[in-house]
Amino acid sequence: MSKITPEQQPFIDNVLPFQIETLDVRGRFVRLGPVLNNVLAAHQYPAPVAFLLAEALALTALLGSVLRDGGAQVTIQARSDGPVRLLVTDYLVSDKGVGHIRGYAEFDAAKIAALPSTTRLEQLCGHGHLALTIDQPGENDRYQGIVPLEGVDLSEATQTYFEASEQLPTVCKLAARHNEQTGLWSAGGLLVQHLARSEAGGERLFASDAYPNWLYAKALASTIKAVELCDQSLSLTDLIWRLFHQDEPRIFPALGITKGCRCTRERIQGVLRQFSFEELVDMREPDGSFKLNCAFCSKDWIIERPEEHT
Ligand SMILES: [Zn+2]
Repeated sequence: MSKITPEQQPFIDNVLPFQIETLDVRGRFVRLGPVLNNVLAAHQYPAPVAFLLAEALALTALLGSVLRDGGAQVTIQARSDGPVRLLVTDYLVSDKGVGHIRGYAEFDAAKIAALPSTTRLEQLCGHGHLALTIDQPGENDRYQGIVPLEGVDLSEATQTYFEASEQLPTVCKLAARHNEQTGLWSAGGLLVQHLARSEAGGERLFASDAYPNWLYAKALASTIKAVELCDQSLSLTDLIWRLFHQDEPRIFPALGITKGCRCTRERIQGVLRQFSFEELVDMREPDGSFKLNCAFCSKDWIIERPEEHT
């Protein structure tokens, strides 16, 4: 059991991984505060869209924090015919192992305004799909899984994803809260998964939803409340102990999360190179320059002259 002093306890903008050997379970908690508000501040999001994006960012941090190698990346993309047309979040592992997250959503403001006060996935997204992509540095194979965007919320859609696509029993809890007084958002999440033993070429012995240890762990994990996930005065260590104190959880060092956009002049030049000459003529500003806006961080890029096609 790791000893973490109160001063070291991670509360905000951190992922805290844990494992419970006796239950064949591993999990992670995440809580986002300033990083989340920083990402949301790039655009004027109506509350239901901010809520969905906040939960998606918490999920991205949970999924991305499994990756260790610098340059590895997880991307979540949801496309739908509903009021939220597109939602993209990603997590990039820096060379120092820190997680950089970013994200944005495209939405129909009139359709969102016409909705009753709701955070239900089916009302925000209608019909659509959720794609999860993992890129590992140095490996050419990109992993991608796609599932229909179904369920009451993103937590349920994620559980469906892991169960349908990965045959991996999973509990996923995501939550987001807006503080009316401060105007600030917080988000939190928990992902608990059954560790499948004997996976290497063998039968996945315990990867069964009916396995008693899993049923027990699932029942405990399911008791976590949205208010606990988002409460910034509760440490993530406390949350692990609240759920699993009888089962000797092993707690690993926390992983820091920061906001990080990857837009650079070179990348923007790369985007410009994808347009034809005629399209570029149409896009030109009166002074002959090109103005492009980064959808993630809202930064305006002024490019005097596109580089030649290579
Ligand atoms: Zn950017």
